[in-house]
Amino acid sequence: SQENMSLLTCNASSGKIEELEDDCISYFIKKKLHVWFKQRRGKWELGTILSTSGEEASVSFSNGNVMKVARLELLPANPDILEGVDDFMKLSFLNEPSVLHNLKFRYSKQMIYSKAGLVLIALNPFKDLSIYGKDYVSAYRQKFIDTPHVYAIADAAYSDMLRDEVNQSIIVSGESGSGKTETAKTAIQYLVAVGGGSGGIENKLLQTSYILEAFGNAKTSGNNNSSRFGKLIEIHFTTMGKICGAKVQTFLFEKSRVVQLGNSERSYHIFYQLCAGASSALKERLNLRPVSEYKYLNQSDCVKIAGFDDARKFQELMRALDTVQICEEDQELIFKMVAAILWLGNISFQLTDSKNHIEVVDDEAVTSAALLMGCSSQELMAALSTGRSQPEDGTNTKKLSLQKAIDTRDTIAKFIYASLFEWLVEQLNKSLQVGKKCTGKSISILDIYGFETLQKNSFEQFCINYANERLQQHFNRHLFKLEQEDYESDGIDWTKIDFEDNQECLDLFEKKPLGLFSLLDEESNLPKTSDLTFANKLKQHLNAIPCFKGERGRAFSVRHYTGEVLYDTNGFLEKNRDLLPSDSIQLLSSCNCELLQFFSKVFSQSQKESNSFHTSVLVSQKQSIGTKLKGQLFMLMCQLESTKPHFIRCIRPNTKQLPGIYDEDLVLQQIRCCGVLEAARISRVSYSNRMTHQEFSGRYGFLLSESNVSQDPLSISVAVLQQFNIPFEMYQVGYTKLYLRAGQIGALEDKRKQV
Ligand code: ATP
Ligand code: MG
Repeated sequence: SQENMSLLTCNASSGKIEELEDDCISYFIKKKLHVWFKQRRGKWELGTILSTSGEEASVSFSNGNVMKVARLELLPANPDILEGVDDFMKLSFLNEPSVLHNLKFRYSKQMIYSKAGLVLIALNPFKDLSIYGKDYVSAYRQKFIDTPHVYAIADAAYSDMLRDEVNQSIIVSGESGSGKTETAKTAIQYLVAVGGGSGGIENKLLQTSYILEAFGNAKTSGNNNSSRFGKLIEIHFTTMGKICGAKVQTFLFEKSRVVQLGNSERSYHIFYQLCAGASSALKERLNLRPVSEYKYLNQSDCVKIAGFDDARKFQELMRALDTVQICEEDQELIFKMVAAILWLGNISFQLTDSKNHIEVVDDEAVTSAALLMGCSSQELMAALSTGRSQPEDGTNTKKLSLQKAIDTRDTIAKFIYASLFEWLVEQLNKSLQVGKKCTGKSISILDIYGFETLQKNSFEQFCINYANERLQQHFNRHLFKLEQEDYESDGIDWTKIDFEDNQECLDLFEKKPLGLFSLLDEESNLPKTSDLTFANKLKQHLNAIPCFKGERGRAFSVRHYTGEVLYDTNGFLEKNRDLLPSDSIQLLSSCNCELLQFFSKVFSQSQKESNSFHTSVLVSQKQSIGTKLKGQLFMLMCQLESTKPHFIRCIRPNTKQLPGIYDEDLVLQQIRCCGVLEAARISRVSYSNRMTHQEFSGRYGFLLSESNVSQDPLSISVAVLQQFNIPFEMYQVGYTKLYLRAGQIGALEDKRKQV
């Protein structure tokens, strides 16, 4: 009809009023269609255009106000019938307020999942919804339901893997507290449900999360169960699609948390779980006290999490350790290490002379720690109080200063805990081992911790945010870059979509020799350097780079894809070096404890393997944290590049961790960062399936009813498309490939199955 035609003309626009033709504006006026207007407080308000004159429009709002506003400041709203559509791609007008409104509408109806083209958007409900479990799994597996869901994504990965025989990945990203870990677990539960049945491996796989979370998650100010490490879980399948093994890889474990806590934060869950849940016999063996008596834990004002039963969690953990077959002796060793760390934290020092030299206070903390570690109190006290001179000051002091002694104690505690975590991951991998029968492909699920902008951003945020830049580039590359390059080189009609490229920011971090990591390593290896000299060095070399800005004193800022972040270099050199005094290593290797001996052996080996040159024999030199992270991420990206990616973007609707609260500004900022709008736009105009003419004709050619077409793949392909009446706007024929819009392959596959 005439009206439909008008709306269609309007739809052709990218979603901005300014770009709408005048007749379209008059259509808006005639039909009293809604428009969005941004109020002064930044809130979007729905209104109706009454009239326009030149660049101005007079708009009436629902509260009765009528205002004259610039036409440029209006955005078209979608017709009511599109309220709550499940894929933003289907919106007539794709603009920020429409997406925001749609998400909010869906959230209020408990529909937490939406699609932006190929990307799944998951809003954190902060309450349990009954949309998971066996019935839902089979509904999604059999395609009875097609509303957006993690299950649908996991199913797509599973089906694609089996059909194309290509490794798949599910990449979950989002800010802290947005629901990445829960979403990743849900995806794994789905895969276990559809790919289970070949042995005990599935149960082990499900139980690993209890172990990883007990040792690697903690309460932060933003999330009661925040992952303090990144992880990639690779699930292997047989050619029949049955799970036959898995591998866990972890990245960038935050060890500073073991010894240092901000207010309203906790250390790793295991410390509290052990104190609350250990049997009295175990408590006695470990000489355990209540949480409030340990300095590493009571330095924060928070020891309990509301609704979180530490004792019960401990029982779950014990069951999980049994399931993955970590034997009782090893379990005892693990708990010993955890208790030893708590006692180490209680060790105190007293000054012996005016030169600020110290002695260890010989009390219960020392005896308990030494006993648990398997050394004598004397040995432990010696390692903590005597250090040899640092090369640069030239004197031979026998005793450490108070600060150095505290640092040594904390370094040992952090080293033991981080090694324990790595060792546990190794044990999990042994238990989940990928067997010889694993001849099929794999699905990898990535849950790396999200972008962080805190009040004070230190080396930890610097590393986390860099990792997120890397991931963002992978996302851009797959969603926008590769897609568009492919269209262009294959000669099909195409209108380019812009996206925010973050290459410049990545270069700022990675360039050699003048990038953030290189300069940090250089400064870390030079004598007489400090965080201040490092900050000055950055300003001297990087000031010309647009996404870098030198700030006052020790600070600098980086313009990330999420916005500008101010970093304080305080502690950067120390944390990047990550040294362990050789005295401490000697102590640990001489302890009568299998684990500690093992940890120190691994450490010594990593030093030998490191090729960096260091003049001091007193401090052990190994790869810096920054360089290690860069290498790990490089490997991770290579690994992901060989998979077909499925993206999930998690969004937290409020910072209070409460259900039912939808903070529009907070959501807006997140959908901007993760390119939701662009993802929907590109999907609307892109072709989600592509196959070479060969592949396509090979797979569907036999469906042809007439065999008199010529035998070249291109002709066969075109004949198939014609025979099944695929509308011409649903595909394009390129030089080498056939491009099909979403939904078309499914129909052909159905035909194929019927034969
Ligand atoms: P971080 O980066 O800090 O690790 P995250 O993105 O992994 O954060 P999660 O730990 O997955 O965030 O989620 C935080 C909390 O939100 C969970 O502990 C849970 O209470 C709640 N939550 C997340 N997703 C869901 C969901 N689908 N259903 C119910 N609750 C959820
Ligand atoms: Mg997490």
